[in-house]
Amino acid sequence: MNPQDLARAGFSTRCVHAGTWFDAATGGACSPVFLSTAHVYPHPTGENVYPRYFNTPNQQVVARKIAALEGGEAALVFSSGMAAISTLLATCLRPGDHAIFQTDLYGGTHELVVRELPRWQVEVSRARTVEEIERACRSNTRLIYVESPANPTLRCLDLGAVAALARRRNIRTVIDNTFATPINQNPLALGFDWVVHSATKYLNGHSDVNAGVVVGARAEIERLREVAMLYGGMLDAEACARLERGLKTLALRMHRHNENGLQLAQFLCGHPAVARVYYPGLPDHPDHGVAARQMRGFGGMLSFELRRPEAVDKFLQRLRLALPALSLGGVESLVCVPARTSHRRLSPEERREAGISEALVRVSVGIEDPADLVADFAQALEGC
Ligand SMILES: *Cc1c(COP(=O)(O)O)cnc(C)c1O
Repeated sequence: MNPQDLARAGFSTRCVHAGTWFDAATGGACSPVFLSTAHVYPHPTGENVYPRYFNTPNQQVVARKIAALEGGEAALVFSSGMAAISTLLATCLRPGDHAIFQTDLYGGTHELVVRELPRWQVEVSRARTVEEIERACRSNTRLIYVESPANPTLRCLDLGAVAALARRRNIRTVIDNTFATPINQNPLALGFDWVVHSATKYLNGHSDVNAGVVVGARAEIERLREVAMLYGGMLDAEACARLERGLKTLALRMHRHNENGLQLAQFLCGHPAVARVYYPGLPDHPDHGVAARQMRGFGGMLSFELRRPEAVDKFLQRLRLALPALSLGGVESLVCVPARTSHRRLSPEERREAGISEALVRVSVGIEDPADLVADFAQALEGC
């Protein structure tokens, strides 16, 4: 398929075909894996090719596929989500700048902001709502960084409103789109400048690759690449090939994650042992309206609070299908307790403010048969 037709094609078609390297030597249907780190010069592309320059064929194949899915001009693929995020922040921020970060951030990003940004002499404000973001803006604000839906209470921000207030003030915007994926939400179309992902999660989807990505305008990605070449967080060819294969089924998987997420959320809602369910697809979620406007599906991440905090261990031990584990976004269902895992370094007050109690359980709902998942949670909740 030529690039023009592909840009108009549906998400499933783009997942399968975008970026594929045509193997003229064999006529093979999938991109070959190019392992070379040494390449002749002058190179036919006119550039020096080297994996740490982020310009080998397998790196470009994955970058093009993800850019096509996010509706961005270009992308850069990194060795982890944190490599992508830290390199992007290093590119965008300089001493004396002010940046606004959403209060509820992924744990690693939160630590980066709290520990490293002061060393870069970047001033930081935290904000949870569009109004708080607007109030935090100053004359030296360069960047607004958000996550929506956010971990673990799945709060969603009106992304169009954030992008508009930033544009008026000439502030650049970044969103971590890991939870939604490009299948459910395209922030660039809503006015955001940069999209980052932990590709370790849904984009790869099989819990066997650590990777990250940044998507944006071509000139900006080129500026990012010049910094990224120095920081060196590139992804090797074999991991790129595994990520490319995972991406081919992203749309298919996300449709199932969306269906399973909604079914499990609805089941948990009616359960006597459950005090609260956080899922943006439920009409009583505080941000359901915003989510319904800007998302095509509500994803596979949900959280719920048990009525009795003492019951958490019993519940986790009784699960037979869902695995108590860190990470998320894979085909298998995983559960974790944020107060003990992702948010254990927060003080009790910080956790309370973020709405994270000892009884909060986060679920990354996999693509198993929904009836089996509901049955597993039903038997594990018995007597809790
Ligand atoms: C996992 C995760 C990251 C970090 O990604 P790594 O690939 O583990 O470096 C960043 N943001 C979100 C929302 C995540 O879930």
